[in-house]
Amino acid sequence: VKIVVIGNGMAGFRVAEELVARAAGCEFTVVGEEPGGAYNRVQLPLVLSGAARADSIELADEGWYAARGVHLVTGSVSRIDRARRLVEITDGPVLPYDVLILATGSEPVLPPIPGAEQAVAFRTLRDLTRIQARAATAGHAVVLGGGVLGLETARGLACGGLPVTLVHRGRRLMERQLEAGAARVLARTARGLGVRVRTGAPITQVRGPRVVLEDGVALDADLLVVCCGTRPRTELARAAGLAVRSGVVVDEQMRSITDPRVFAIGDCAEHRGSTSGLVGPAWAHARVAAQVVAGEAGPGLMPSEMTPVIRLKASGIELAVLGRDGGGEVVRFTDPARGVYQKLVVRNGKLTSAILLGDTRAAGTLTQLADRGTVLPADRASLLSVRRESPAADTTICRCNGVTRADLRSAWQNGARDTAQVAAMTRATTGCGTCREAVEGVVAGLFSQV
Ligand SMILES: Cc1cc2nc3c(=O)[nH]c(=O)nc-3n(C[C@H](O)[C@H](O)[C@H](O)COP(=O)(O)OP(=O)(O)OC[C@H]3O[C@@H](n4cnc5c(N)ncnc54)[C@H](O)[C@@H]3O)c2cc1C
Repeated sequence: VKIVVIGNGMAGFRVAEELVARAAGCEFTVVGEEPGGAYNRVQLPLVLSGAARADSIELADEGWYAARGVHLVTGSVSRIDRARRLVEITDGPVLPYDVLILATGSEPVLPPIPGAEQAVAFRTLRDLTRIQARAATAGHAVVLGGGVLGLETARGLACGGLPVTLVHRGRRLMERQLEAGAARVLARTARGLGVRVRTGAPITQVRGPRVVLEDGVALDADLLVVCCGTRPRTELARAAGLAVRSGVVVDEQMRSITDPRVFAIGDCAEHRGSTSGLVGPAWAHARVAAQVVAGEAGPGLMPSEMTPVIRLKASGIELAVLGRDGGGEVVRFTDPARGVYQKLVVRNGKLTSAILLGDTRAAGTLTQLADRGTVLPADRASLLSVRRESPAADTTICRCNGVTRADLRSAWQNGARDTAQVAAMTRATTGCGTCREAVEGVVAGLFSQV
């Protein structure tokens, strides 16, 4: 069986790993546009800020593929011929397939501003290298877009000592996740860490190394980074006649609803009516697709949906947003002087969403309560001061990889003795990395029991 994976990113590489482990006797080819092996895109902001080294985000070098008989092709797929089951690569080989897996990810959206093409997006390792090269000589940087990635990027540049302004066209930072009060506290925290923040100020023009805002103010921008969202890369699928809405429409087995030989996973897939844009779902898709291809099909392969959790990876800014605020009973605690803003939303006695800014220590406990739909105690506010309790066995500690406390414990029982060994066995901490402290806590707890 010839299996071709288009995409060597977070989902494409993971499905290759899962297939190598399961589908013996198949011929595997992975095509990606990046030179060399796969890397962890999610941790690029940590490299920018200096919290991680570039070589630490490598997932596999070329030797990994060769050693497992996986044919790695560097190039851009130009066309899928479903009738003849061929994948065509620009200036490259034509690849026949029996099973095709689309893992083409998403691409940055550039705002329709004259001159915006001079800006750098932040999606790839190559983008990071360009940003770092320009930052080395820049006097002032502008980051456009006050969402999660914009904040991480601006803070990352400020960590390197570069004066930076975060410009956001919306009235407040992270408006999809935060209410006004929380966004104000966040802006103040960011300012305190060297990031100038201008909200409600769309850029109207990029003129040389300057950007002009709607109110006429011009800012120096020797480096302009655009973080204005992404859109799924679906052009190949669309041209091949596959059903595409916001993403390639797939069923519960991650198969295209148009062609059972074609799967779509990761950011490019539309599963249960939505695209995700997050690594946790991308890896869950990869596992399910590999299981189906390896003949382990059956209902219930896809893990049940968990409360979405967003954690900012910006040094000095603690922020976790759980769930989506659909309204309900609200409990708030604010201490602006300490940069703390916390909010719980409760419906029918259960936690549906939460904002934890400036103090995220209750995040693990609250996530567990939301995931399980536990009825909360009458004293809701006490939950905000809950301090890292020992999580129950079935609590998911690493959400990117779906690793529970019980999984960490069995790694321990199988001989893992520190966080690195536990990570090697379970993959915990290897996604966005924000669970590291929680994993260390569990490992320390296991030590104390012996
Ligand atoms: C800087 C940054 C930080 C992030 N932080 C987080 C985070 O903290 N938490 C989180 O959950 N998510 C985060 N994300 C989102 C996360 O990275 C994505 O959800 C994840 O990468 C999706 O994986 P994917 O494999 O679908 O796409 P990608 O990782 O983008 O991989 C797409 C692959 O497809 C290839 N490709 C596309 N078209 C073609 C073609 N025509 N021919 C050949 N190859 C092609 C590309 O070369 C690439 O290899 C972040 C993203 C970025 C950019």
